[in-house]
Amino acid sequence: MTDEQKAIDKHFADERLSNTGVKAALIDMDGVLYDSMKGHTAAWFRMATELGIECTRDEFYAYEGMTGAATINILFRRAYGRDASPDEVKELYGRKVKYFIEMGEPEMMPGAAEMLNTLRQAGVTRVLVTGSGQHSILDRLDHDYPGIFDPDKRVTALNVSHGKPDPEPYLKGLQLAGCQACEAIVIENAPLGVLAGHRSGCFTVGITTGPIPEADMKDAGADIVYPSMPEFASRLPILLNAFNQNSWNSK
Ligand code: CA
Repeated sequence: MTDEQKAIDKHFADERLSNTGVKAALIDMDGVLYDSMKGHTAAWFRMATELGIECTRDEFYAYEGMTGAATINILFRRAYGRDASPDEVKELYGRKVKYFIEMGEPEMMPGAAEMLNTLRQAGVTRVLVTGSGQHSILDRLDHDYPGIFDPDKRVTALNVSHGKPDPEPYLKGLQLAGCQACEAIVIENAPLGVLAGHRSGCFTVGITTGPIPEADMKDAGADIVYPSMPEFASRLPILLNAFNQNSWNSK
């Protein structure tokens, strides 16, 4: 029995749901479709140190998936014992975005195009679910991954009230896909995103594409963890087959 089959059996037993096959994939953007996390963490670190707030660059990997406002409030509570005002959030997030853009366009993640083509060929609906509101990357999606994401199948920071680790972004993604949690998989690279996916009830794939250890993905509720996007892309056909073979209808 493959690791994929075991993970699927365990997920459906834990959730007390029946497996009826995969209809949709809810896909995170930064760190999954783009190798952009180095740029994001460097931009956050520069903005925070300018304010004189003590921080490390790596801590920003742990906040990945949160909205910009949530990250700014972590820094503000530590330094000033209060949340930032809406005006402060606007100014500081703007500054962080500016620094990010100055570093140049992030590379497409190796393995991402292969993963998306496998999903498309298998007839799986693709929905983008990102905590980002950065147009510099969002506007590149159609160019870099043509024909993959319908314009009406995208959840961004602009249309949720609670960011990851709240399940709201993934629950919105399920609505856009028109399917149930038991019919969708979540594809994530950050513990807070994995937690959001797990809370939505979907089978959640965690992929380590940065310095976050695999164990943190498991702790956050990942049903299965892969060490890189190319590795996940190469195992995805096996995962999709395992869903079909294990599905309730075929038992
Ligand atoms: Ca991410």
